[in-house]
Amino acid sequence: MRLVFASNNAHKLSEVREIMPAGIEVLSLREVGFEAEIDETGTTLAENSAIKAHTVYQWLQDHMAKEQMASGFGVFADDTGLEIDALDGAPGVYTARWYRLGADAAQCPQCQNETEVFAANRAKALRELNGKANRHAQFKTVITLITPAQEIQVEGIVRGQIATEEHGEGGFGYDPLFIPEGYDQTFGELPVEIKNSISHRARALEKLAEVLKTYPD
Ligand code: IMP
Repeated sequence: MRLVFASNNAHKLSEVREIMPAGIEVLSLREVGFEAEIDETGTTLAENSAIKAHTVYQWLQDHMAKEQMASGFGVFADDTGLEIDALDGAPGVYTARWYRLGADAAQCPQCQNETEVFAANRAKALRELNGKANRHAQFKTVITLITPAQEIQVEGIVRGQIATEEHGEGGFGYDPLFIPEGYDQTFGELPVEIKNSISHRARALEKLAEVLKTYPD
């Protein structure tokens, strides 16, 4: 079976290809010629994950020959959020652009690239939790799979704590602040193999792989 992963993120693609069972070929959006921007207008991770998967599946139906679709083309999309207990689950669906929400709307007008956005988001997390004793949080990934046979969602969660300052340069996003349960270092400090064996995305992908193992080759 050939599955289109609704992403062009090289880091995610390699993680996905490592975890997928044999017989599943994973293609990026670029590889199938999908170039449109997808508006993530949902109010939950599950909705945004489904919006991405549906948009790409519809596009494939419009652009691929019927025989190709019938021969087993599918799509999956992921959406991830950081949910902080003391903030009632925020930033959640707004995780990627948290730094410019609410009173911080004007923060970081110079934020142009991903690195600056990630740093501004981490600074906001530290400000929001300043003086709070409860620093428990979780990363959640929701993956939507659509194939000719079914549509399902799977979820992966890793619990942890938000550190009081940044540690480590590895990973991306909030990694220098997130200490996963059972460890005393952040995802930014831990070896990538450890992160990729316990992360929210890895756990969701493992569940997806279990489902796909039941598909005929
Ligand atoms: P996405 O839905 O996978 O694009 O993730 C949304 C946002 O969540 C990203 O822009 C990052 O800020 C954050 N994020 C997602 N996955 C991770 C991770 O593994 N570590 C740290 N931050 C992450």
